[in-house]
Order: sequence, then C-alpha cells, then structure tokens
Amino acid sequence: MYSSTIASSFTTSPRFGMTAMIRTFATMQKKRPRVVILGSGWGGNTLARRINKDIYDVRLISPANHFLFTPLLPSTAVGTLEFRAIQEPVRTIKGLGEYYQAKAKALDTENQVVKCQDLFKGHEFDVKYDYLCISAGNKTNTFNTPGISEREGKEVFFLKHLYHARKIRNRILECFERASNPKINPEERDRLLSFIVVGGGPTSCEFTTELYDFLQEDVAKWYPELVKHVKLTLVEAGPGLLGSFHKSLADYYLEKLRQKNIDVKLSMAVTGVEERWYSSEVAGGQAGTEHAEGEKGHYTVASFADGTELPFGAMLWSAGLAPVKFVEESGLKLDRGKVVVDRYLRVPGQNGRIMALGDCAVPAEGEGTPLPPTASVAEQQAYYIGDCLNLYNKDFDVTNRDQEVPIPGPIAPALMPWQSAEFLNKILVKAAPEFQYKNRGAMAAMGFGGGVSDLTKTDLPAPKVATSGAAAFFMWRSAYWTKQLSWSNMILIPMYWFKQMVFGRDISRF
Ligand code: FAD
Repeated sequence: MYSSTIASSFTTSPRFGMTAMIRTFATMQKKRPRVVILGSGWGGNTLARRINKDIYDVRLISPANHFLFTPLLPSTAVGTLEFRAIQEPVRTIKGLGEYYQAKAKALDTENQVVKCQDLFKGHEFDVKYDYLCISAGNKTNTFNTPGISEREGKEVFFLKHLYHARKIRNRILECFERASNPKINPEERDRLLSFIVVGGGPTSCEFTTELYDFLQEDVAKWYPELVKHVKLTLVEAGPGLLGSFHKSLADYYLEKLRQKNIDVKLSMAVTGVEERWYSSEVAGGQAGTEHAEGEKGHYTVASFADGTELPFGAMLWSAGLAPVKFVEESGLKLDRGKVVVDRYLRVPGQNGRIMALGDCAVPAEGEGTPLPPTASVAEQQAYYIGDCLNLYNKDFDVTNRDQEVPIPGPIAPALMPWQSAEFLNKILVKAAPEFQYKNRGAMAAMGFGGGVSDLTKTDLPAPKVATSGAAAFFMWRSAYWTKQLSWSNMILIPMYWFKQMVFGRDISRF
C-alpha cells in the first residue's frame, strides 16, 4: 500500500519536491485508514479534494476519469463551449492515493470490499475500504417508454456525460448536412430539421435555448436556406416548466420560449418513439408514398399521449432520473432507488463505515427532508463528510470492526471550498453535528443574455429576490465561471464565450 503511495506521489506530481517527500515519508510512519470514494462527480470529486490525505489514504473509483461541470454541459452540446473546458481530470486531485477507471459492481459489507470492473477489458478486482463514500449519482430514466433505449445514441440522446453532448452535437450537424443535400425529399428534410426536447426541468430548458441560439446565429449564417424549415418542440408531462423555481420565473421562462416560436407542449407525455421505413423494398418495413419507388431509408417518429405524432431528426430525452445499477444492487436499504442515510449521511447498520451523498442518497424518515438532486447539495454534503473525517474520525481506530464510529461534534456548513470546518466552528457559535443544507438559490440560463435566478428561498446573506433577464444571465455566468476548479478552465471558458460571440460556433462534424 505504501509503495504504491510513494510511486503515485512521484509520478502524479510534476512539481515533486521536498515538501511532498517529507509528507510521503511522514505518512509512512502511520497506517492511514483507507477511504474509498465511488464516483468522480460533484460529490465524489469535492470529497476527494476535501479529505486530508495526511490522515487518510484516499482512493477513487469511477468510470469517468474526470469531474464534469454539469451546469455548462448544455452549452457544449451546440458548441457555445468546448468539451475540454468543462472537465477536470481526477488525477489532478492533490495527494489522491489511487484512481481506478472502473465501475463498482457489487458491495461486500461483511469483508468491507467493493467489487469493481475495469472499463477496458472487463477485468474484475476488489478494493478494500475502511470508510466507503458512495457518490455514484443517477442515470436518465426512460420510464420504459417504448423506443427510447433502442434509439438512444442514434436519434434519441441523454445529457449527463460529456460523450452525450458530443453525440448530440454531431447528430444536429449531421441533420443539417443531410438536409442540405440537393436531392433531398422536402418531407425528409423537414423530418431531419425537427428537434424535440423532452422534459421541462432546467437541463431541458437550457438546452432548448442554447439550441435556439445556435439556430438563430449559426444555422441562419451557414445554412440560410434551411433555417425556415427548422421546428423546435419542448414537451413536458407536467403543467409547467422549471417546477422548482418561483412561479413568476417559471411563467416568464415559458412566455419567452413561446415568443421565440418554440412549440411548448405542456401536460403532454411522449408515449413512444418508433422507427419507420419508407421503402417498400425493405422486408417488414412500412411503405411510404412520398418517396421515389425503390428509395430506401428510415425515419423516426415520436408519438404523444393525445394520439398525434411528430417525426424528428434528433430528440433530447431529459425526463427523469433513475438509480445506477450498482446502487440498485448494493444490498443497502433504498428508498425510491436512493441509499437511505441518517442525519450524519451514514448508512444505518454499517457502524459509520459507509456514507452516501449527492443524487444517490436520501435521508431516512425522521432524519431530514429529501433534498433536490443538485450540484449544490452534493457539494455541501461532500464538505460535510470531508470535515467529519478530518476533524472527528481521525483518532478513531477503524480496525476494531465492532466499534461504532462516534458521532461528529459541531460542523458549521461550509458554502465555499476554502471555508474549513475548523475555521467556521471558531467563528460560528451555532454549529450542528448533523448535516445542514444551506439553500444557495437556483439559476437557469436562457441562451445568450437571458435567464432566471431564484434567490427567494436562499440561506445566503443576500436579498430574497427573483431576477430575470440580463441580470440573471450575468449572475449565472459569473457564478459558474468563479466556481471553476482550475486556472486553465477559468481562462478557457471566457475565451470560448468571446469566440462564440465574435466568430460564432464551430459547425464541423468529427
Ligand atoms: P454525479 O455528479 O452525477 O456523479 C456521479 C459519478 O458517479 C460520476 O462520476 C459517474 O461516472 C460515477 N458512477 C456512476 N456509476 C458508478 C459506479 N457503478 N461506480 C463508480 N462510479 C460510478 N445542478 C445544479 O445545482 N445546478 C445546475 O445548473 C445543474 N445543471 C445540470 C445540468 C446537467 C446537464 C445535468 C446532467 C445536471 C445538472 N445539475 C445541476 C445536477 C447536478 O449535476 C447533480 O445534482 C450532481 O452532479 C450530483 O452530484 P453527484 O456526485 O451525486 O453525482
């Protein structure tokens, strides 16, 4: 264990120097308890950065070898930002013991082992833990809607990972290139230029407005003859958009979308997606009438609850969340697909050795109110768990398997990365031992120059206001710019914003 720690310190730190050497040899003197973190997202990445590596041997397991700054993901799907500007490699986490690009497959709580499978050859291996922190997030829920999983990655897309954004961007550009073909049938062209977004939450709304800007600014410039044939539809099963926002902001957003000629269908569910063939030559296919005899091909149609249909070129499906397989099969107690935790974010019955946070965790009944699946929640929970470990678990002997980890002492909620619990506990009198969520408000962008910002329920020392328009947009951009983890992304992001404003978005397909 120690030799690998030394090796990783030498190989991962380009500026390996005296301080690192002293620290490495100092840590050799004492066997550090091993903290295994599952997931490199908002929860896992923040926690891995927060934990004191002089006290703990921190190991990270995740299929993604980077942290993804999800609030900016919709911008990359149309080229407002470039993919690499919104991610941070996990190996840049200072002092990280090991990282395995693998999926956690199963959990053996008896032997304190996570069973993993690497992403490349499917090799299986075990990782022992003293403490396990589960931050595996969730995945897109298709609600078993026929055709969604089957067409995923072809005409239907999810938006959770960087590779999703890349696929969407390529498909949109493919639709325009195919629609530019001089021999294209007009109906086929209209189908390709029909884009559907399913879901009325912030991700869907932000993607819709980003796509709208792309159509107005770049398509109008590079495919001027096609822009009038484009149709953009947003479908939401509930009665309104942006359900978690103040009603005035949600109504404002809806009105703005309709002003932009986006067809917003509320209280309408997509009941299925179907592939149809338009050539009588294809066995089992459905013959079409509008195509020349013998012409082959397929198209995709979405059906709605009211019996209507809409052919489309690309669909973004962002209609709900479901647990990842590991969580479902972990054997831990779940509530609606999430790991049940107590007020200290510990999984009951595990002697304080297993914690869960972020989108995959939910408080047990009477242990707190369920929180929204947001980056802010995952990040604050990661600060909390990191501070508990750094402050209160450090002298606990984890080798005594039957002994329960003592409950933590006061922990003041940290809102900013530099606010350590030690520092806050000194200046705040009323710190609580249990996790306390602080609402920092909610924001949603509306393409360039627009947005909504809801601070009506915030716990921040800020006016409780609902803001919209340019002010909300600048608030959104500055908040997410200042939250970047590296100087390189702090420089790259405004550069890409500037490039897009002056030269437009890149329309090449890779
Ligand atoms: P995630 O950040 O999703 O991380 C989960 C990690 O677990 C990933 O690294 C994944 O690869 C890994 N993983 C999955 N399965 C396994 C396994 N079997 N073993 C090991 N690792 C595994 N929230 C906001 O507050 N504001 C926003 O503006 C906002 N915008 C968003 C935009 C988009 C497009 C999306 C998708 C989400 C957005 N969110 C936003 C929500 C926010 O991203 C999530 O709430 C947050 O990421 C939750 O953090 P997490 O650590 O629980 O999960």
